[in-house]
Amino acid sequence: MIDQLRAKVSGPVLAPGDDGFADEVAAQNTATVHTPEVAVGIASEQDAAAVVRIAAATGVPVRVLATGHGSAVPVADGILVTTRRLGGVTIDSERRIATIGAGVRWAEVITAAASHGLAPVCGASDNVGCIGYTTGGGLGPLARTFGFSSDWARGFRLVTADGVVRTASAEENPDLFWALRGGKAGFGIVTSMDFELVELSTLYGGSVFFDADQIAPAFSTWVEWTKTLPEAATSSAVVLRLPPLEFIPEPLRGKTVLSIRFASVGSSAEGEKLFQPIRDAAPVLIDLLQEMPASRIADIHNDPRDPGPSWDRGQLLTELDQEFVEAFLGAAGPDQQIPFIAAEIRHLGGAAARDVPEGSSVGGRGASYTLILIGAPDPSLFATVLPGAAQAVLAPLEPWKSPEHNVNYAGGLTVPGSYEACWPTETFHRLADIRTTYDPTGIFPFGPPTAPE
Ligand SMILES: Cc1cc2nc3c(=O)[nH]c(=O)nc-3n(C[C@H](O)[C@H](O)[C@H](O)COP(=O)(O)OP(=O)(O)OC[C@H]3O[C@@H](n4cnc5c(N)ncnc54)[C@H](O)[C@@H]3O)c2cc1C
Repeated sequence: MIDQLRAKVSGPVLAPGDDGFADEVAAQNTATVHTPEVAVGIASEQDAAAVVRIAAATGVPVRVLATGHGSAVPVADGILVTTRRLGGVTIDSERRIATIGAGVRWAEVITAAASHGLAPVCGASDNVGCIGYTTGGGLGPLARTFGFSSDWARGFRLVTADGVVRTASAEENPDLFWALRGGKAGFGIVTSMDFELVELSTLYGGSVFFDADQIAPAFSTWVEWTKTLPEAATSSAVVLRLPPLEFIPEPLRGKTVLSIRFASVGSSAEGEKLFQPIRDAAPVLIDLLQEMPASRIADIHNDPRDPGPSWDRGQLLTELDQEFVEAFLGAAGPDQQIPFIAAEIRHLGGAAARDVPEGSSVGGRGASYTLILIGAPDPSLFATVLPGAAQAVLAPLEPWKSPEHNVNYAGGLTVPGSYEACWPTETFHRLADIRTTYDPTGIFPFGPPTAPE
């Protein structure tokens, strides 16, 4: 198989032990080390088609690695296709469409769009890959204003299991288009995506920090305040346990703090007025809220950019109340000794609650908030301590657990039942049917390490 691949593919074809293999399969999450039978760095759509034909003929599974932000489970067999050589962003400013190569991260789209006064509806981190993020739905700092990022996908090009390059859009293969807007993976190798941009040059956004002793009043106010916000504003609240390390600014170093993030698309005056109740809730330790270029959207959450070990566990939440505040602070508040650097809640609703007119497969529209726990970045804790510790935090929050879930928040689908829970039952079955139609022999496996019955 490797010889066949080398004969047909222009990008590198690497077996374990080959020079460059480890770099080729390296993931943003360095705790996950992929050891496929072969890694193929596709450099063109023709490469993708050649890989799929050879895989189909030999019955070998194909999985895709873009940045490895979503790498929670190692790939230990088959072909791992890497997409980083499929670069390129072109902007059609008249139609407000960005055509985005499979290997592109949001930062590149943000920069290309900004020169036209446009912006992509992206996630919190501009370092995440556009395709893997969008096919999972994608909830970003503007989610209440503009909805899921997948709502802005206008078409995909992909190589399906028969080795054919297809377009999936509202006009062509609409079933695949529906599936790719939230169904995540298992449909083929996406080579590019057409993505509609919004007209947005500036934001009123950023974050404020509250010291440990002010977390209770600030968080309690935040929960009530979110219920009053218009769709123009999206916010999140996160309890951060920051390590005593040099790179953390002094007032935050080694502390447990609450960060409230905010993004509003109206004028700065409107944004300031909307945010005032949070500034009034308790003395603010650091205030970084300001008018900012929309191209600096990633500063709002300020997620780490360097590769490193990561572990997370998420779920979605229903409407919150003061009993929730008590339960959350009792489980993850500053008095608790828990091995999570972040316990984050994002406010949903608004445009995120409305499906696109033609329908899409994304899970979680009916939820009101997201919740994610990010583990201490110590791989020795990942299998041993963090799953039980997460369960201990989540158990008292069970009454507020949304029946809906979203695959980008599912922490690698390793918890039994979490894969099926990512979509409403009917959607889950329709996605499975579409996978079977386009990939009858299952060369694009997707789901938990052991497939559900
Ligand atoms: C720091 C950080 C911040 C995040 N912020 C957000 C956020 O704000 N909102 C949100 O919704 N999610 C967020 N996520 C989750 C993120 O969207 C998922 O982890 C997503 O899967 C990452 O996609 P990727 O392509 O970068 O990663 P990868 O791990 O490379 O890809 C993830 C999966 O996507 C599929 N895939 C990727 N490219 C292709 C392709 N070309 N063809 C077919 N399948 C493909 C594959 O199944 C692959 O396993 C965040 C994750 C991290 C680590």
